[in-house]
Amino acid sequence: MTAKRLRVLVTRRWPEAAEHYLTERYEVTLNAEDAPMSPARLAQAFDEYDVICPTVSDKIDADIIGAAPRLTRLLANFGVGFDHIDIAACKAANVAVTNTPGVLTDATADLAMALILTAARRTGEGERELRDGRWSGWRPTHLMGRSLSGKTLGLVGFGRIAQATAHRAHHGFGMNILYYSRSAAAPDVERGLGANRMATLEELLRRSDVVSLHVPGGAETSNMIGAKEIAAMKPGAILVNTARGGVIDHDALAAALKSGALSAAGLDVYPAEPVVPASLLGLENVVLLPHLGSATVETREAMGLRAAANVNAFASGSPLPDRIA
Ligand code: NAP
Repeated sequence: MTAKRLRVLVTRRWPEAAEHYLTERYEVTLNAEDAPMSPARLAQAFDEYDVICPTVSDKIDADIIGAAPRLTRLLANFGVGFDHIDIAACKAANVAVTNTPGVLTDATADLAMALILTAARRTGEGERELRDGRWSGWRPTHLMGRSLSGKTLGLVGFGRIAQATAHRAHHGFGMNILYYSRSAAAPDVERGLGANRMATLEELLRRSDVVSLHVPGGAETSNMIGAKEIAAMKPGAILVNTARGGVIDHDALAAALKSGALSAAGLDVYPAEPVVPASLLGLENVVLLPHLGSATVETREAMGLRAAANVNAFASGSPLPDRIA
């Protein structure tokens, strides 16, 4: 197959530079309206396109992929997380899957720090108060938050984004770093970040002033932080999540925020986006962002070009640089 004839579906709008790069090279269908595609449309696309470039907003399950041979041979995902794709079903149907690791690490670590700072310093509450006309002026006890310097940040998962967050928190904000992860980081990485690995999640939760989640989503990490884990956290600790919504039991989180067991939380991701758990919406001490982790112009362009690099490799029959299935 020549590269020009490869049929590619991009399911959502991409930054113009990345869309342009693909349309110059392949027969590309773009989604100019940027409307989420229905499951029926996605299922149909498997018979119409050689390559589909989905995002986290496309749930690609076994029913959509189907068992019969389909035209689509590659899902070049725009994003590093891939829990929205049924990887086993892709393997069974001989559909390769790639993601975009690395290019969004700094942007997402920046956002984790933003959530940590916003939650600790109560800046969301402050802005709401000011805009509502409720600010009555400076006073010594007004909206006192918590300092980060000298406090302990516990990272759950210690891959690319967690380590970049550790770098910012340790070298920029003077925080001590603990981590809990499936595998240990190299000793020089631990030394460079002043990071200590905890043997159990419970130990990390017990010792951290701020806990930030960085594991992938999916069955293995579903409700990893529930009522029992929150009860193990320090009284008044802060919980931040830029990983995936399913990692937290949000009813347990809302109860802990209401009772003051946790002083604050900062969330970028939710179990059934774009729905935000109603129990959280009325709480002042939770920062709620609309999944902005990688949302910078530079990062989103780089993500598109990284997905395109995988399409290029597929077109030329080369090994896929970011193959996950
Ligand atoms: P990564 O480099 O693969 O890091 C994942 C880390 O989690 C690894 O240290 C991994 O350990 C560990 N881990 C996996 N399963 C675990 C388990 N069951 N228990 C304990 N540790 C476990 O991935 P990344 O690039 O840092 O991205 C992390 C996640 O962030 C992505 O999967 C994605 O869902 C999310 N994300 C969100 C945004 C956003 O917009 N908010 C943006 C980018 C990414 P091993 O080394 O043993 O595998």
